[in-house]
Amino acid sequence: MGNQIVNGRDASASPSKNADRDRLEFGNAWAYAPSLESTDHIRIPARHELFIGGKWQAPKSGVYFDSTSPSTDEKLSEFAEANAEDVDLAVQAARTAYDKYWGKMRGSERAKYIFRIARAIQEKTRELAIIESMDGGKPIKESRDVDMPLSAAHYFYHAGWADKLEYAFQGRKARPLGVAAQIIPWNFPFLMAAWKIAPALACGNTVVLKPAETTPLSAMWLAKIFEEIELPPGVVNIVTGAGATGEALARHPGVNKVAFTGSTDVGKKIQALLAGTKKRLTLELGGKAANIIFADAAIDQAIEGIIGGIYFNQGHVCCAGSRLLVEESIHDLVVDKLRDRIATIRIGNPLDKNTDIGAINSRKQLDKITRLADAGERDGATRFATKCDLPAKGNWFPPTFFTGVSQSSVIAREEIFGPVLAVMTFRTPEEALEKANNTMYGLSAGVWTDKGAKSLWMSQRLNAGVIWSNTYNKFDPSAPFGGFKESGFGREGGRQGLRGYVEID
Ligand code: NAP
Ligand code: MG
Repeated sequence: MGNQIVNGRDASASPSKNADRDRLEFGNAWAYAPSLESTDHIRIPARHELFIGGKWQAPKSGVYFDSTSPSTDEKLSEFAEANAEDVDLAVQAARTAYDKYWGKMRGSERAKYIFRIARAIQEKTRELAIIESMDGGKPIKESRDVDMPLSAAHYFYHAGWADKLEYAFQGRKARPLGVAAQIIPWNFPFLMAAWKIAPALACGNTVVLKPAETTPLSAMWLAKIFEEIELPPGVVNIVTGAGATGEALARHPGVNKVAFTGSTDVGKKIQALLAGTKKRLTLELGGKAANIIFADAAIDQAIEGIIGGIYFNQGHVCCAGSRLLVEESIHDLVVDKLRDRIATIRIGNPLDKNTDIGAINSRKQLDKITRLADAGERDGATRFATKCDLPAKGNWFPPTFFTGVSQSSVIAREEIFGPVLAVMTFRTPEEALEKANNTMYGLSAGVWTDKGAKSLWMSQRLNAGVIWSNTYNKFDPSAPFGGFKESGFGREGGRQGLRGYVEID
């Protein structure tokens, strides 16, 4: 595991080695000792099979692929690559489970299983957080304090709906759809599985889940939880693999619903694939959210929210506040504060409890971030990044922001999905609104102001599915999440999220 690097200082080096620089640059304020989460108790099997019909099954494809740790480049385990035949077996198992018991089961009985899943996640939070950080690269303080508690909360919340669906739809009868194919990305592997599986099961559907190729590990732990709580076989099946596995699943004629979270490009392909079929579809796609800060905002509070909004989870967040619109009169003040604040962000070993920014999920994603940031500079924007020696192994990108960004620049338009913020200015609320809405996406936005009326005025006009006011990246299972325009359609979470998994009579 690489040492934690804090602004050029090797955190594992002797205190004296760093002492002079600390005094000069930081007055020792940031010289925390490393605090590594222990991995001694984690046993990762060398190989994982497919989880189909409640059994671990070798793939018909005969093919396995590796998942590595993006912070060390070490291989963690091998995973079965499901081909069309394997996907077919998984869909058949889900259909059998649906027809035989899950589709007919009383809601109160389904709820008991979903509550058990939630409780098992709570019991195993620490272990789950560690493997999530090892496989995906995110800081342990996020996987431990955000991903796992929110995942458990999603199962708890939806367990509560399972026997109350007639109240969700005001006296009308809600029927399950059948087999749900669910395809998820690598940025929140365990949490995205929860967002998908919990409502599907609560509404009486069975599931075939396809995790992302670079982060399949925590889905295997989830399958072990299903075994442990004795979820009936075939109710949730997990097929690992890459894009071709996802496509085979979306294509399968035995599937009644496809729920996809991922890139807009793949979302469009799936939509084209489903055209003319009776399959239901929900798409949670990309974003290019604006955080809008007015001169009357509580500036220091806003800076914290803006920093969290873009650097949280290495910027691998679809709703990341990747554009910052600053009222012109406070531009220089905000930029100074941003520069000071990113100098204190700690980048390094995801398993260190002090780490703020972990590893970029894959080499491919690192190359994309690097390419887009370089294009920003070529477009004439000024780059600020923390000057730190990054670990020799693994994929790293320092927290970065650009000033002097034009609306037409690639970094103001394209989703970077990394720790890169584009700063722009505005003079009036109308101009802020126009600039914020000037994007093909419409997933989220943030408004920072002391005036409630201004915040409401903006929120009513911002074309985004989620709008945070004087905060950012706050989630709750009861709050629906989803986008407009090329950010997709359908909602996840809340009463609205149930709608994607039922037919209403
Ligand atoms: P991606 O390439 O679209 O992959 C998402 C999932 O789809 C993965 O499991 C992927 O498998 C699979 N896949 C790839 N090609 C496919 C195909 N032709 N048919 C069916 N499935 C296919 O996205 P990503 O790059 O992994 O994830 C980042 C993107 O997800 C970002 O654009 C981000 O904004 C978006 N995202 C959105 C939300 C939201 O809620 N709106 C949440 C998280 C992420 P492999 O990974 O194995 O190739
Ligand atoms: Mg991995």
